[in-house]
Amino acid sequence: MDADVIVVGLGSAGAMACWQLAEVHGAQVIGVEQYALGHDAGGYAGESRLFRTGYHESPEYVPMLLRARELWQELERGGRRTLFLPAGVLSIGAPTIAPMRNVLASVEEHEIPHEVLDAAELKSRFPQHGSITDEIGVLDRLGGVLRPESAVQEALRRARKAGAELIDNAPVAGIEEIPGGVRVSTARGSHTAKSVVVTAGAWAAQLVPELREVLDIRPLVLTWFAPEDPAAFAPEVFPGFIRDLGDVHLFGIPSVDGALVKAGWADAWGSIADPAQLVRFLEPSALAGVGGEVHDLVPDLPAHPSRHSVHMDAYTPDRRAVIGTVRPGVVVVAGLSGHGFKLAPAFGEIAARSALGLPQQHDISRFSPDRFGG
Ligand SMILES: Cc1cc2nc3c(=O)[nH]c(=O)nc-3n(C[C@H](O)[C@H](O)[C@H](O)COP(=O)(O)OP(=O)(O)OC[C@H]3O[C@@H](n4cnc5c(N)ncnc54)[C@H](O)[C@@H]3O)c2cc1C
Repeated sequence: MDADVIVVGLGSAGAMACWQLAEVHGAQVIGVEQYALGHDAGGYAGESRLFRTGYHESPEYVPMLLRARELWQELERGGRRTLFLPAGVLSIGAPTIAPMRNVLASVEEHEIPHEVLDAAELKSRFPQHGSITDEIGVLDRLGGVLRPESAVQEALRRARKAGAELIDNAPVAGIEEIPGGVRVSTARGSHTAKSVVVTAGAWAAQLVPELREVLDIRPLVLTWFAPEDPAAFAPEVFPGFIRDLGDVHLFGIPSVDGALVKAGWADAWGSIADPAQLVRFLEPSALAGVGGEVHDLVPDLPAHPSRHSVHMDAYTPDRRAVIGTVRPGVVVVAGLSGHGFKLAPAFGEIAARSALGLPQQHDISRFSPDRFGG
């Protein structure tokens, strides 16, 4: 065998799996990426990602989120890149809606440092947010902003330093079982290993047919706005936020460059049949729609974005990632469903342990690839 484990797809989860496999477990690793390492077409692109422990999706994620946070800090400590800005994350919404109940349950049940602000406190502490009526704010003090491109690069650097062989510009065309392992074929040659971890993001179903009926590829749009006073949106005074108004889910990230503020809609952009169909720009009318809503809710941000970019992610029907073994020797981490970057180091850790046949530290049954039947 050429290696213990081959990792296919060196984006968010794949970079973390390589790091864990090579550095923590001392495994022989080959990582294969279809594009250049750290390319800008991955699910991680776009400058920043929210990390939050007050979790809208479910408090069940909190132990894994806390583990991910430790790993982010460990990754940052070992290098020279800033990966995490501890700006906090503010969840805003009516206290009765399910996402806010989940946020409150997350921070209370798991004793996460937090503050609950009523509407009056919210308005006076964070006047950047407008039109607050009966909403509350929950400030998650463990939340913050991740720098995804740097994080992927840093994890790959750590993996390479620990001996991983990383191969770029080599799209994997097929994975086949061989006695005692797998063969992974690319246009530039094939490699064998005892097991393979497939972390191919929006492209995963092309390599793992079991995922074809499960993954839905959705475009996601990022929009940046230029406020007159960028200092009012600096990480020290303006936490990341998610505002839930029933039909409208707005998110925002403090200015990481001292000029622009990222804010926009989460999840409102339909789906595509194939990653090749992604259109990487938005019509002006669609930009005006998101800009108008951002301006209504954060009035000091102008109504027209000064920059935008279009990305994609693979979603599962229940918005939980798929993590586990689909066939002997084939481990997948896929369907991170628009909220998986923050968890990527924990997912990488789990994938590494699965690939090496080690027991897990978390209950991962909820992420089982078998849960959708068929
Ligand atoms: C715009 C946007 C905003 C988001 N905001 C947040 C947020 O605030 N917080 C959060 O936690 N999450 C967020 N997410 C979700 C998160 O970023 C994604 O879930 C995550 O990055 C997906 O990681 P992945 O490893 O599955 O895929 P990727 O990071 O895309 O990695 C897949 C890799 O596999 C490679 N690959 C694919 N096919 C092959 C092949 N055949 N051969 C070799 N290589 C291959 C790809 O080129 C790519 O490098 C957001 C996502 C988007 C798109």
